[in-house]
Amino acid sequence: MEKFKLSRAVESLEPSVTFEIDAKVKELQKKGVKVYNLNLGEPDFHTPDEVKTAAMEAIFRNETKYTAVQGTLELREAICGKFKRDNDLIYKPEEIIVSNGAKQALYLAVRTVCDVGDEIIILAPYWTSYPDIVRLAGGKPVIVRSEILRLLDVERVRKAITPKTKAIIVNSPNNPTGAVYNYHELFELGMVTCRHNILVISDEIYENFFYNSNNKPYSFASIDPGLRDRTLTINGVSKTYAMTGWRIGYCAGPEYIIKKMTSLQSHVSSSACSVSQAAAVKALLGDQALIREMVREFNMRKSFICGELLRAGIPHIQPEGAYYVFFRVEPKFNSIEFCRRMLDDFQVALNPGDTFGTPGWVRLSYTVGLDDIKEAMRRIKALWTSKEK
Ligand code: PLP
Repeated sequence: MEKFKLSRAVESLEPSVTFEIDAKVKELQKKGVKVYNLNLGEPDFHTPDEVKTAAMEAIFRNETKYTAVQGTLELREAICGKFKRDNDLIYKPEEIIVSNGAKQALYLAVRTVCDVGDEIIILAPYWTSYPDIVRLAGGKPVIVRSEILRLLDVERVRKAITPKTKAIIVNSPNNPTGAVYNYHELFELGMVTCRHNILVISDEIYENFFYNSNNKPYSFASIDPGLRDRTLTINGVSKTYAMTGWRIGYCAGPEYIIKKMTSLQSHVSSSACSVSQAAAVKALLGDQALIREMVREFNMRKSFICGELLRAGIPHIQPEGAYYVFFRVEPKFNSIEFCRRMLDDFQVALNPGDTFGTPGWVRLSYTVGLDDIKEAMRRIKALWTSKEK
């Protein structure tokens, strides 16, 4: 039978390269091959026991039905508490929506504000899903690249603005560079968004992962009172509490936008998982020790990796946050070829910068133990130096 013609928007979508590489890694692992997996952005820590217990208790209380589409009131209140505690921002539960992961919250936000033909500015290097999310919403991704990758080049953003610009997506701490934009960069950007009446979608999923206490990540909406009502803040429990599989993300923003996002979600997925929502309440209100433990461990791994890259003369961005190191392999190697060889010949899974709109670079995720990192670095250096011989 002849194949049906599919929607143009979805037909043009490529699957997430990160998950494709992960599938290949799993295939190799199934064959018994030891793979050093520095590909996926998933903490190698476990969800805290008290969070798991809260989930089990919710099951036995029979909280196993649909919840309010917008999320349980208890969880939205806990999220409001988190914004007050961590970001000095006051939100009402009506200004919060809970989704199936930050990814869905992002999709809902973009789909709700972006009309066909609207332009959405995305800063490169960017998280791989942003441009596709914008395209799916009928919008046009406008990519703005800084001269120096770890900086936020507000002047270039300003130049990219047209009458069709609707919003800008900001991600700090950044995936893949690990950059943390400072107060001045964000304030300057904020002023530009005010002047041109642009919305800001601020993806703050890595806010707890920072390694320079002099450059603590700012929540964009907290930078200036004038920015709160033009900002949709995206966050979630996936990274902060090692809960990637629970699928709980959220968005805070003006009530009229959150209300429409809720209508959209009601037709897409209804509420997020009831049990996961109960677990997320415990994660947000309970002991925050896991965060400190993860940050301590990631900081140690990051210092080791950067030291090794430095000694090998591999150019890289010194990360201040998230859990990635972005290093440059060009002109010596093509980044896709480098990652292919690393996986096929050295059993090290990495992510080519092409996935993040930045060919020539490679992303390394330090979410595996130090012993594996040491061996992976030895192999990375082996391929790197093989071209010098
Ligand atoms: N935003 C960024 C920048 C990410 O790196 C990720 C996951 O890798 C997400 C959002 C998605 O988070 P979640 O697992 O909660 O959907």
